[in-house]
Amino acid sequence: MSQNILLIEDDLSYATAIREALTDSDHGTFQVEWVRHCIEGLERLVKSGRQEKHRPDGIAAVLADLFLADSHGIGTFDRLFCAAPQIPIVVLSGTQDEEIAKLAVEHGAQDYLLKTKFDGDSFPKALASMVERAANAEALFEEKERAQVTLNSIGDGVMSIDVWAHVTYLNTVAETLTGWTREEAAGRPLAEVFRVIDSTSRQAVQNPMLLAIRQNKTVGLTPNCVLVRRDGFEAAIEDSAAPIHDRRGHVTGAVMVFHDVSAARALSARMSYLAQHDSLTDLPNRILLKDRLTQSMSLAQRHRQKLAVLYLDVDRFKHINDSLGHGIGDRVLQSVAQRLLTCVRSSDTVSRHGGDEFVIILADAVHAQDAMVSVDKILLALAAPHLVEQHDLSITASVGIAIYPDDGTDAETLMKHADFAMLHAKDSGRNNFQFFKPEMNVRALERHSLESGLRQALEQQQFVLHYQPKINLETGAIVGAEALIRWRHPQRGLVAPGHFIPVAEECGSIVPISRWVLREGCRQARAWQDAGLPPLRIAINISAVELRSKDYVATVRTILAETGLDPRHLELELTESFLMHDSKSAAAVLHELKGMGVQLALDDFGTGYSSLSYLKRFPIDILKIDQSFVHDLTTDADNASMVRAVISMGESLRMRVVAEGVETREQLDFLHEHACPEGQGFYFSHPVVAGEFSQLLGRSAVEPRSLQVY
Ligand code: C2E
Ligand code: MG
Ligand code: MG
Repeated sequence: MSQNILLIEDDLSYATAIREALTDSDHGTFQVEWVRHCIEGLERLVKSGRQEKHRPDGIAAVLADLFLADSHGIGTFDRLFCAAPQIPIVVLSGTQDEEIAKLAVEHGAQDYLLKTKFDGDSFPKALASMVERAANAEALFEEKERAQVTLNSIGDGVMSIDVWAHVTYLNTVAETLTGWTREEAAGRPLAEVFRVIDSTSRQAVQNPMLLAIRQNKTVGLTPNCVLVRRDGFEAAIEDSAAPIHDRRGHVTGAVMVFHDVSAARALSARMSYLAQHDSLTDLPNRILLKDRLTQSMSLAQRHRQKLAVLYLDVDRFKHINDSLGHGIGDRVLQSVAQRLLTCVRSSDTVSRHGGDEFVIILADAVHAQDAMVSVDKILLALAAPHLVEQHDLSITASVGIAIYPDDGTDAETLMKHADFAMLHAKDSGRNNFQFFKPEMNVRALERHSLESGLRQALEQQQFVLHYQPKINLETGAIVGAEALIRWRHPQRGLVAPGHFIPVAEECGSIVPISRWVLREGCRQARAWQDAGLPPLRIAINISAVELRSKDYVATVRTILAETGLDPRHLELELTESFLMHDSKSAAAVLHELKGMGVQLALDDFGTGYSSLSYLKRFPIDILKIDQSFVHDLTTDADNASMVRAVISMGESLRMRVVAEGVETREQLDFLHEHACPEGQGFYFSHPVVAGEFSQLLGRSAVEPRSLQVY
């Protein structure tokens, strides 16, 4: 390829000589563009900019006389150089101007040629090699620049040192991370520019570049290290280093790549925190608890000490959750967590085990007595009212205690035994604590067998309904019957619903059982009618669990159709907790049932949290005053006024009021006196089997007051 040479010369004969020498040369083909004035040369150079250099019309070199008609001396050179600094310029000079030519070389000219020494033979060769050298230098410069740009554009810090551990290079990221500029750092000892310490011990750690040089191999990450920036700021980093070799394979230094991992380390610390803590209360969760318990046990073993595990369950928490909603339930749990924390020492662990269960490790419980003192303190602390939104809630809890090593030598067994003891505390009337005893294992097994027994009870027809009459207190006539389930257990005999309904609700078998009760109750009521007995309302207890199941209304409709019972004769007894929980959908279900003609009764009224204004939202027909109020009616003035209030409230809301648990003549008289419309209780009759109930019903038809002398 021919090279374009720009010749700027106003001496015609000299210009001609140069053109001739270059055009017919053995040392490459040259195209000479000749101009006479500096301005023309400048124009040509500007056109042949950096981009055009490799194009056919690009200029490879400039030969310039500095004394032209339009420009004189060194200024000529400076102008040309300024227009195209990347193109090599050779100055053509007369002997008297040699000093200026030398000055031009200092200003950046490749060389100068004295016109008197011009030799048409050797000149082309010299020019060709000069052009080549200039091109190589330019290529090298470009490559270096490209490497520089690459190093600066990667996200990692890059830094290098020589064998004496003096800094030779930093890229931009390394400048930011160390706080040193490349110029400031160059030549300084590595330890001054790059200070790394261990994040835990805070001792200086060996720089991997020094290791790379010493061992002549790539060195991986230094774990857990922190870079201390020039201004003292600390950033967690990861680094790795490799030796640099010269062409003969000798180590001449090392290069290190490193990056800031503070954010990643903070994130992973946060993740591991979240995995070990409960998000609601921020207490350690099951996983961390197990860790801590195992640790505490090995410590206790070493010091031949005991420790206590407390399993705490909030009493009737489900009731709070169902009646006041999960939002308030959550706040109660947070409040419980706070109180628990105030009761223990810093060496103890309070954890949430899920739901309303908390597990506490008392690491310093040397004697069982110490655990007892702590539990007393805990129960007392929980008992003070918890103010959540406008509710003043009183909370109690049941606690089971297991002692290491007496009740178990591994975390799992200890926790299981503390749990059994807690269940025992629940059974013993709640709001108390129990130490684990080996017999409790047996009780836990019993519960397990209860659950599996329940699953078979339906198909083996072990359930039976008893009926308890509801009496019109004015006339003495039976106006209704409450169906109450019993379980004829092959080994245990007749089991009362209080012993298995809560278990059935928890394990899900309540739904099929309830369907059976509804069908059997409706069938029986219809059978009594068919037998010519006076029509009555059959009352069925429903649990909140089944009312919330989607197809409940459809089930009731189907069963009524199947049994042929008029919906007016069906009464469903529900509890306040169902209304309070998700009251919108509760109201919708109740309105649907009401629309079918079914009567709705609110059972155990007075024991929940519902208020009068709340009740008005629901289509309730009947209020059943809870037996606890009726029980002390004649001895407790508060209960008496409560009963009076419910009776008159029922009257004004047009709800029928039924007093439950009437056991004595005095109670009956009181209710009669205050015009309570209906009553139910042992005073009239215990719940009885269907056959017996038919007889009561038959007698009541003839002589309505017969039951009241029972
Ligand atoms: P409840 O609906 O409030 O039923 C009244 C309970 O009081 C019955 O207990 C009854 O035997 C008892 N009782 C009646 N009169 C008196 C009295 O004068 N004095 C005393 N001390 N008690 C009296 P039971 O049959 O043990 O039932 C207990 C609870 O079990 C029921 O309370 C009800 O909530 C639930 N239950 C019963 N049958 C079913 C059922 O088929 N399904 C559902 N979900 N729950 C049921
Ligand atoms: Mg009931
Ligand atoms: Mg009741």
